[in-house]
Amino acid sequence: MKSYVGLEIHVQVKTNSKMFCRCSTDYFGKDPNLNVCPVCFGLPGALPVPNKAAFEKAVKLALALNCSINQSTKFDRKNYFYPDLPKGYQISQYDKPIGYEGFVEIELDGDSKRIRIQRVHLEEDTGKSTHSDNGDETYLDYNKSGVALAEIVTYPDFENEEEVILFAKRLKQIVRYLDVSDAEMQKGQMRFELNISTSLEELPMGELPNFKVEVKNIGSISVLEKVLQSETARQIELLTKGEEIKPHTRGLKDMTGETVFQRAKESADDYRYFPEPDIPPIQITDETLARLKSEMPELPHQRKQRYMDLGLEGEQADILVEDTERGGWFDTLRQAQGDKPNDKVITKEYAKWLLGDISFWLEKKKISISEMPFSTDDLIYLVSMMQEKKISGTIAKQVIEEIFENGGRAEEIVVSKDLLQVQDEGAVDGFVDEAIAANPKIVEDLKKNPNAIKFLVGQVMKLSKGKVNPSVAEEKLKSKLSL
Ligand code: ZN
Ligand code: MN
Repeated sequence: MKSYVGLEIHVQVKTNSKMFCRCSTDYFGKDPNLNVCPVCFGLPGALPVPNKAAFEKAVKLALALNCSINQSTKFDRKNYFYPDLPKGYQISQYDKPIGYEGFVEIELDGDSKRIRIQRVHLEEDTGKSTHSDNGDETYLDYNKSGVALAEIVTYPDFENEEEVILFAKRLKQIVRYLDVSDAEMQKGQMRFELNISTSLEELPMGELPNFKVEVKNIGSISVLEKVLQSETARQIELLTKGEEIKPHTRGLKDMTGETVFQRAKESADDYRYFPEPDIPPIQITDETLARLKSEMPELPHQRKQRYMDLGLEGEQADILVEDTERGGWFDTLRQAQGDKPNDKVITKEYAKWLLGDISFWLEKKKISISEMPFSTDDLIYLVSMMQEKKISGTIAKQVIEEIFENGGRAEEIVVSKDLLQVQDEGAVDGFVDEAIAANPKIVEDLKKNPNAIKFLVGQVMKLSKGKVNPSVAEEKLKSKLSL
């Protein structure tokens, strides 16, 4: 048994105006049918003019997906009528997509795999239909019609759900890094379509089953996973019964991933594509292409590699790549390291505290990095004090808590609350002796269980209110107990 799975993704391109007219793209939550004009409706005499910003963003997207670029490109009409497309055609791109033959690399436990990209093209979004509860009426809102869409089509390279999910997440990161789209799924800014064809036996290399089922309009990554599971199971059941599956399109029944038959699949012929007569072919000059390449930002996989090179764990790097706010804060810390930007020990400490206590407090207080009272200077100070063994990790934790609860600066808190570590030998001896005297059983236990020393270290920390350096305490304990 083998499933051949491909994806088509529509991403709303972030621009101020629509793809071919000057109507605003700011429609979310607005009253219906305010952002419309004769171009949106394809009225006689209205002339579409391509949006340069959308076009350049699509080129950057194609470059980020490692595509070749059609420097001579054009728009085409895809003819079909639907109530959300009353002008009878969608302006899209047919045989000269902006980008073609690219790939996205996804990481699978230490290994990586390339998902090949067939094409990246630009088109326009349609309107939105809403149905009344009793199903008697349909309302049409054309605010969304004509908003720029980038369509990305992959080859059927996915072998399981995990690969689909990893790809979807990586693509979402890429469009965000490029500022091509905010890709907010709940606002419909990124929509998936799954193509699935299952075969009971493995086919020879390069061959595919003779049918393809498309599931359209999947608006979340978790639903994507469920659809893939339920549709594969449905196909296996039919094939096992000896039934033939015809190419067709299905839609989501609900969020459980179950789907329903919508229509037999149209072929490209049905759409009667022809070059859009109102928009001349477009040339992307070498200069423009070079400029766009030079404007490419650091991409998610590059950022991850940079963090790994700094000594971060894969999981830590993934969090900072996904959450660019925390990633940016981390980069600021590293820049502030100044003299020794490659000091891996300090870099790892920064990551540890950012993803540990600081993230804990952000979560607890339900605030974002930009809203928190804790600054990069605070962490730089705390880490350097720990490096110099002037404060312990326990004290650092207290200081972070204090700042999140009551504000203030780390250095002031350490000084005013007298939190510097006890440097005086005699005082340290006192705490160590007290810990030993109070725990005869543990001391006895140490012969069998050397790890019990950690408990005694903990007791010294407690007695000293965290002001003895734990490694100093451990050394002292060991020498006093002749371990
Ligand atoms: Zn318009
Ligand atoms: Mn499309």
